[in-house]
Amino acid sequence: MTRKVSVGKVDIGGGSPVSVQSMTNCDTRDTSKLVRDIKAMLEAGADIVRVTVPDFEAAESLGKAKRRLREENADIPIVADIHFDHRLAISAVENGADKIRINPGNIGGKAKIKAVADAARAAGIPIRVGVNAGSLEKDIVEKYGGISAKGLTESALRNAEILEDAGFSDIVLSLKASNVRLCVDAYREISKLSDYPLHIGITEAGTESFGIVKSSVGIGSLLLSGIGDTLRVSLTGDPLKEIKLGRQILEACGLRKPSLEIVSCPTCGRTEVELERIVNEAEIALSEVAKEREKAGKRGLKAAIMGCVVNGPGEAGDADFGAACGKGRAAIFKGGKVVESVAEDEIVPALLRIAREFDE
Ligand code: SF4
Repeated sequence: MTRKVSVGKVDIGGGSPVSVQSMTNCDTRDTSKLVRDIKAMLEAGADIVRVTVPDFEAAESLGKAKRRLREENADIPIVADIHFDHRLAISAVENGADKIRINPGNIGGKAKIKAVADAARAAGIPIRVGVNAGSLEKDIVEKYGGISAKGLTESALRNAEILEDAGFSDIVLSLKASNVRLCVDAYREISKLSDYPLHIGITEAGTESFGIVKSSVGIGSLLLSGIGDTLRVSLTGDPLKEIKLGRQILEACGLRKPSLEIVSCPTCGRTEVELERIVNEAEIALSEVAKEREKAGKRGLKAAIMGCVVNGPGEAGDADFGAACGKGRAAIFKGGKVVESVAEDEIVPALLRIAREFDE
């Protein structure tokens, strides 16, 4: 098991639930926009938010945003992402960052990394050492004849050692690459050699169409092997989509209970209703109820919507409720028993009624 570090109120590692994080893409210096975006990310289910700190004005804006979020009851741990200038890391610490992410390869030498470590230690916050296939040290690339999983691992351990030498061990490691196999191999390698908690993700995974597949395969395979303590999905575009996908990957791996799970069949020649439309409408309608239930601390719902009565109820046996469709109609069932028969247009309203009244 990995060690545990605390990022504000969220623990990473040591058997803590795997947290989902994403990164804002607004100008950090625009405090109002920063606060608005972070609140949207919190609402979407982010556990931790990372912001880039490219200058001192951004570091100050981070501090203002933190205070405002606290006042508005929307406190969430904030990680400051630092490149090139260690003084910005120190300023971010002074402005209340809950964690610092540095890429030691571009921060400018041991003395500067030590200065960041001293500031973080004084503030009691962890540092993520984020090594990246794109900025691997030259000597390591040469040693392994190119960019490799072993090279990424060596770089991460080497940089962690600089922090260790500075008496600092509240470390999280990440070893990212956009090549899924390289990235997964690197995390597998480091998990054998180190017990620091791991921040996992496939970096620069691309747009939604490729990025979702790459992230799901990479992050999912690591999580299913028990590797990964916090994750970030990296897609070109809206951070809210990254958060949604991160949560879905955790749910698919059985590491987080979904507020709503819909089991639906792939349709076949037996289907005699517009199943795709019905399932899509049901998903939107039931999601609202499920979100309300989640806020109220109630358990998630599992609904099944099957295209026929032949396999339907049997294949959906463990659902809380659902519909087994026939020709223009459906048998609505709850707890394994048929409770009514409705016309095609009434299927979604009937399911919604049951979800609203569901009291287990
Ligand atoms: Fe076909 Fe029925 Fe299976 Fe759906 S549940 S795929 S309609 S056999």
